[in-house]
Amino acid sequence: MHIPFCEKKCKYCDFYSSFCDEKLLDEYTEALIKSINQWGGTFSCPIDTIYLGGGTPSLLNHRLTSVINAVKNSFEVDENCEITLEINPKGNPKRLLENAKKAGVNRLSIGVQSADDKELSVLGRQHTFKAAVDTFNFARQLGFDNISLDVMIGLPNSSVDSLRKTLERIVDLKPEHISSYILKIEENTAFYKIFDTLNLPDDDAVADQYLFMCEYLEQNGYNHYEISNFAKADKISRHNIKYWLGVDYLGIGPSAHSAVGGKRFYYPRDLKAFIRGNKPCEDGESGGKEEFIMLRLRLKEGINSIEYKNLFGENLPPEFIEKCLNFQRNGLMRIVNNNYCLTDSGMLISNGIITELLECEI
Ligand code: SF4
Repeated sequence: MHIPFCEKKCKYCDFYSSFCDEKLLDEYTEALIKSINQWGGTFSCPIDTIYLGGGTPSLLNHRLTSVINAVKNSFEVDENCEITLEINPKGNPKRLLENAKKAGVNRLSIGVQSADDKELSVLGRQHTFKAAVDTFNFARQLGFDNISLDVMIGLPNSSVDSLRKTLERIVDLKPEHISSYILKIEENTAFYKIFDTLNLPDDDAVADQYLFMCEYLEQNGYNHYEISNFAKADKISRHNIKYWLGVDYLGIGPSAHSAVGGKRFYYPRDLKAFIRGNKPCEDGESGGKEEFIMLRLRLKEGINSIEYKNLFGENLPPEFIEKCLNFQRNGLMRIVNNNYCLTDSGMLISNGIITELLECEI
């Protein structure tokens, strides 16, 4: 579920979100619950993950219980359902985390981004690193034992050294999961307008940061299971992995995307239309060969050629395999048994590799 509200726009962010007050939050919660009720019965099997993302879903605060209860009332929900809440670590987290716990949230994703307050300020984030640590520690006290922390790399004025300092402090906290994103300057952001003044590291320097991070986190016991995600033992994000495995998912809220029963659809980036009860727009079919290749290459296990044959009734074409062998010779892919996977260096330029592989006739 997308909660499209933020108290202040971060300078790099192009997600769909707007400012809100308590009245708008009430209206939105009502519309969300109505929509959840309408979608009830979509799936023939129990739901085993629920994700509240944003925007800033923690702004829902005491409304979390009614939203999660609406899902439980409208769908069959597995008793071990993973319920994730994204948190913006600002202000006093006590009341929010207590409400989240009561509502049944059992996984938190905290937007830390950096351990350096100057970097956080440049990004336009409202929190300090201390606020993020306080939020993390209080969540632990309340018994949250599945916490993910977000980190950004490629920040203005950053280097491998500055990233090392952030990662050391993040790893010291011992979160179960770490997500890491390379800063991209998108149109319609404050950063886009001042791009030339940002002093961003060049592509090679960002590559050094990414490769350093992969090695450092692996050394510290985090499994690099997806291009941007690292997890301890069995703590991979059960929700996010569904996107890459091609499992059906339903997204509710303006700008939320879905793939259900072979069809893709999305709600437009229009809060008022959603509150009015407008229906989502069609967005083509899901589940084709290209999609399979694109999504599976994001994962450490990559593409399994036997699974490909079972799904699509044909082998990976010889030209495709030849290209993979070439990428392997260049250190960008590994071919292990029947799995074709990207190395860390390959993950860094995954878009280019995928584009080249999709030029094959499949
Ligand atoms: S990064 Fe998160 S908190 Fe910042 S504006 Fe975007 S959605 Fe809101």
